[in-house]
Amino acid sequence: MEKKNLKGMTLQELEDYMAELGEPAYRAKQIFRWIYRGATRFDSMTDLPKELINKLNARSRIGKIKIHGKYESAIDNTVKYVFLLEDGNMVEGVKMEYSFGMSACVSSQVGCRMGCAFCASTIGGLVRNLTSGEMADEILAIQEDTGKNVSRIAVMGSGEPLLNYDELMRFLNLVNSPQAFNISLRRVTISTCGIIPEIIRLADEGIPVTLAVSLHAPDDSIRDRIMPVNRNYPILQLLDACKYYIIKTKRRVTFEYAMISGVNDTTECAQKLSRLLKGMLCHVNLIPLNPVKEKGLKKSDPKKVAAFKKILEDCGISTTVRREMGADIEAACGQLRRSMMLDGVKR
Ligand code: SAH
Repeated sequence: MEKKNLKGMTLQELEDYMAELGEPAYRAKQIFRWIYRGATRFDSMTDLPKELINKLNARSRIGKIKIHGKYESAIDNTVKYVFLLEDGNMVEGVKMEYSFGMSACVSSQVGCRMGCAFCASTIGGLVRNLTSGEMADEILAIQEDTGKNVSRIAVMGSGEPLLNYDELMRFLNLVNSPQAFNISLRRVTISTCGIIPEIIRLADEGIPVTLAVSLHAPDDSIRDRIMPVNRNYPILQLLDACKYYIIKTKRRVTFEYAMISGVNDTTECAQKLSRLLKGMLCHVNLIPLNPVKEKGLKKSDPKKVAAFKKILEDCGISTTVRREMGADIEAACGQLRRSMMLDGVKR
């Protein structure tokens, strides 16, 4: 019999499991607390009776991912991690330190099938979804490595989180659970390439997560070219879904816009984008493209980025240029994992 992995279960699920084992519900709470404090062995759970520990050892386990590679910035405290999953797959995560605490950026899938023209995660296609336990473990691994608690989370690593919806929701349950990570969902950002039906579904959940939408273009003709998802979910419908999200959650939506030289960085693009977003409760984050060798695209000149920003701001649209943290370890999304796999370190 395969042992049941208890990492990733919600407290409710763990309570149901305890009931199956004929144990009282409070045992679930004890185990749950231990797991999200980083315990990986039942024997170390000092407040459990020996018989229960034996029972658990016989039929369950606590999964764990490993830090396989670690790239530390010499400029700031940004660290990029390559995590090795139990099945030998790899994903990336990042931790960044700000004055208000530590942020973690986590992956939601191994690889990605969205096919964005600039993104390294998509090169090998989608391998599989991550489980809620693996996403939680990215946070635990970062906390264990740094000795500090994560206080903000961005689901902005590899993968499309809204195409791994159920596991994402179970992960958010753990993030928000007082006995697990105890992080307010207001401090969690979910980044999507724009899967409209799932944005609507997320809006209807009634949870206050911040929605970030990877827009990257001001019209369908450019967006179709760099983001194949746009052919199914065109830009005006996508913005309607965002407006619905804003109405339902009263939360400001973030639009991410990677500046690609000669593709989406002209004055005309900025004007078009301003017309689209004017009056919306939103924020635009301009991201200098991280060039991915295989993709042949270049980052925009900083002057173009500044001019683009000014046009948006002149229309009253709140805009920032993403601070390039850890610029010296700048490997675009998915690049670290890719280079590690090409090096043949995959088990
Ligand atoms: N699938 C989700 C989340 C993962 S990508 C999404 O599309 O939002 C996280 C962010 O990094 C997205 O905004 C994505 O468009 C951006 N990104 C991917 N590759 C990039 C690159 N080479 N340079 C800059 N941003 C990139």
